[in-house]
Amino acid sequence: MHTKYIFVTGGVVSSLGKGIISSSLACLLKARGFRVTIQKFDPYINIDPGTLNPYEHGECYVTEDGHEADLDLGHYERFTNVHTSRANNVTSGRIFQSVIEKERRGDYLGKTVQIVPHITDEIKRCVKFLGNTGEYDFIITEIGGTIGDIESLPFLEAVRQLRWEMGQNCLCVHLTYVPFIAAAKELKTKPTQHSVKALQELGIQPDVLVLRTEKEIPDDMRRKIALFCNVSPDSVVQSQDVNSIYKVPLRMHAQNLDEIVLRKMGVPFEGEPHMQPWFDFIDKMDSASETVSIGLVGKYVELQDAYKSISEALFHAATYAGRKLELVYIHSEKLTPDNADEKLGAMDGIIIAPGFGQRGIEGKFVALKWCREHDVPTFGICLGMQCMVIEFARDVLGLEDANSTEMNPHTPHNVIDLMEEQKNISNLGGTMRLGAFDCRLRPGSKAAEAYGTDLVRERHRHRFEFNDSYRARFEEAGMICSGENPGTHLVEVVEMPSKRWFVGTQYHPEYSSTVLSPSPIFAAFINAAIAYRNETHKPTNG
Ligand code: GLN
Repeated sequence: MHTKYIFVTGGVVSSLGKGIISSSLACLLKARGFRVTIQKFDPYINIDPGTLNPYEHGECYVTEDGHEADLDLGHYERFTNVHTSRANNVTSGRIFQSVIEKERRGDYLGKTVQIVPHITDEIKRCVKFLGNTGEYDFIITEIGGTIGDIESLPFLEAVRQLRWEMGQNCLCVHLTYVPFIAAAKELKTKPTQHSVKALQELGIQPDVLVLRTEKEIPDDMRRKIALFCNVSPDSVVQSQDVNSIYKVPLRMHAQNLDEIVLRKMGVPFEGEPHMQPWFDFIDKMDSASETVSIGLVGKYVELQDAYKSISEALFHAATYAGRKLELVYIHSEKLTPDNADEKLGAMDGIIIAPGFGQRGIEGKFVALKWCREHDVPTFGICLGMQCMVIEFARDVLGLEDANSTEMNPHTPHNVIDLMEEQKNISNLGGTMRLGAFDCRLRPGSKAAEAYGTDLVRERHRHRFEFNDSYRARFEEAGMICSGENPGTHLVEVVEMPSKRWFVGTQYHPEYSSTVLSPSPIFAAFINAAIAYRNETHKPTNG
């Protein structure tokens, strides 16, 4: 089969869920046996989101091959169970950088280098890159931003050209918003009409419209939109708000989105997509009545996208354990020894979040001391694990000013220190220890028990590490290094065997948790939290 290209654009407003629609379509096509990948093209100038503050762009997702990526790639992986890579996330910055490098090398042979054709050709090359590997039947490309943005114009021009060149092998899905005006008690189609018109002015006729809406869109309104937008009525699909993003693939299938796409692209198909495991997951989610309460201690509590992969991984684990997840965000800057009981006391388990820099760090130590002393299941991730080490050094080993050299370069006890290979790096972008590395787990440890194996591979994003010269003192005092990289011996996991479940990972297991393949270590943490809840006889219905 010739590789098929599907573009997903968005209009009217941002945050309509293009990533979820792209992921849902990919999920359905994959469940029909097709090989699918999704890529995100972002119009901003940053080379990648790695240097972006979470306030700007939410979580930075990390791929297996060590790319710092848009958080939508997390959704792609969670919905499709297919790994993404550097090639799945391209920004204007990357496109411009590569065109400018070619210009400097003289590749353009004296020509004037322009947006069209040079930038658009580079965009087209990147769009087709994964398709040319022959590994996929469908390449779904989500174009970031909203129709009408100045910066997305070159991408839309590239889509227009590809549509023209590829004919039936190319299809455009446009996601818009149908607002409900409460005062008039009416849904309004005008913004959709304008947005499609703007797309048509750029030479792109959408094949399928997905309408994001709060309320059910009546059939006659759908037909009206179809008529005004030159789209066949059966290709106007609604995406009504649901209580879980994981229901969207089923909603899309109920309106035949997968069949519409296949038919329009001339791809033969029969029967139904194999969605049984997905249905089972949704059933578990809907039938869970008992709760598990997890407190997440971090500094970005007002911005929950900053911890997207963690909250999803917790949700996967809780759902498989038959529980409703109650996730409470606890502001690390506001946590003190005086209010720790009140803020942490009702939790069945505590996560200490990843992060960078000093802000909020003292609250993480408060939480860790409290968790250690109350023996509550605790999971530290990346900076959270480093904080576990620092707090233990200060409070148990008696090394009063122990710290990470990230927070205090002159600490007398640098229990967390800059990795050797990081010492001569000055550029911030893409220079951390990034991507998946092997980790050997100590047999019998909580970590090995969680995974059911002693060799795992998880993703990383850090510059600092456990200082090996302190290892013996930690182990003697009851915090063991239960996971290390087999080649470099970097410490990857620490834990306290004397506690119910007190584990920290230098790596980020949340990045690899998907609906159909949830993270084993998140599952172990949630199970420990449930056991603790049962043991302490808390009421089980929240
Ligand atoms: N700031 C720490 C480091 O660079 C931890 C990073 C993180 O939590 N992702 O090592």
